[in-house]
Amino acid sequence: AAPAGSPYRVVLLGASGVGKTAFASIFAGAADSMDSDDCELCGDEASERLIEVDGEAAAVTLLDTWDAETDGEWAQDCYMQTGDAYLLLYSITDRASFLRASELRISLRRFRPAQHTPIILVGNKCDLVRRREVSVSEGRACAAVFDCKFIETSAAMQHNVWESFRGIVRQLRLRRDSK
Ligand code: GDP
Repeated sequence: AAPAGSPYRVVLLGASGVGKTAFASIFAGAADSMDSDDCELCGDEASERLIEVDGEAAAVTLLDTWDAETDGEWAQDCYMQTGDAYLLLYSITDRASFLRASELRISLRRFRPAQHTPIILVGNKCDLVRRREVSVSEGRACAAVFDCKFIETSAAMQHNVWESFRGIVRQLRLRRDSK
């Protein structure tokens, strides 16, 4: 059965080079579990599909429109306000991207003070063990401070990427159910 209501809008945030495009292609490319009708590509910056989470389908639009380097502040403000939920990515091989994730988390809080917006802090590229600059415990501690969930992923190995999408849907449902 198709889920009621409009799709959840999930926004990918993070510094350049952390793996947002890789996440978006995994999301858009995995058409195997669904009818192709269900996968509607809206240009290359947003894709919509149904994903099954805990036995129930959820319609998700994933937005990968963020480019911190080229977009102006207006565009950033816009993304900060359009999402129902956020995957806040950094690369475990790039400490600067970890600091950037903290800044973005603070901006999100500023833009959405009232809502409890689901956010998952995502430490990507965990396959690159020898280039690690941010430890698992640092990532976890940061998420605890920022009151959000935490996961380490590898888009290259397709490890935990779907788990992060499913995690965000679970949080959105919890929020919906508590309303
Ligand atoms: P974006 O700028 O955030 O969209 O980052 P991209 O998705 O373009 O990724 C930047 C680079 O990192 C590309 O060369 C990707 O192939 C690579 N990359 C992305 N995710 C991973 C990962 O999990 N592991 C490894 N080893 N490389 C990755």
